[in-house]
Amino acid sequence: MSDLTALLRSKGLRSTPHRRAVLHALAENPHVTAVEVAAAVGEQASGPGAVSELSRQGLYNVLEDLRRVGLVRSIEPAGSATLFELQHGDNHHHAVCRSCGAVQDVPCSVGSAPCLDAPGTGGFVADEAEVVWWGRCAACAAAGR
Ligand SMILES: [Zn+2]
Ligand SMILES: [Zn+2]
Repeated sequence: MSDLTALLRSKGLRSTPHRRAVLHALAENPHVTAVEVAAAVGEQASGPGAVSELSRQGLYNVLEDLRRVGLVRSIEPAGSATLFELQHGDNHHHAVCRSCGAVQDVPCSVGSAPCLDAPGTGGFVADEAEVVWWGRCAACAAAGR
């Protein structure tokens, strides 16, 4: 039994080749669009341990199933397609480059996610805070883009 199979079963999901392929694709390529996930799954389909072609709707169903049980996280930077990544449960944030669109993980401030203590929300109990920094990535800044 593979790790991915164990992971899926621990969340009460059946371990299907497509679900394993999508998890595998996201493990190798964080912050990708559904289209890019489809391409990565397609590449696995041609390699050893081939997975049959996944329809667009089938892919969205797989992503939604994985998101619902907390294995996959989606982020939606303004002006970008929804991006998917594995859910690490670390409450990390993202920095998005306005020039090339590169997305970089930013660890949450040290400690117990102090950004969850949203000031002035009158008793609102937050369990997740999403921060996006917009700017230019190091490569774009260095190139003057
Ligand atoms: Zn950039
Ligand atoms: Zn991330």
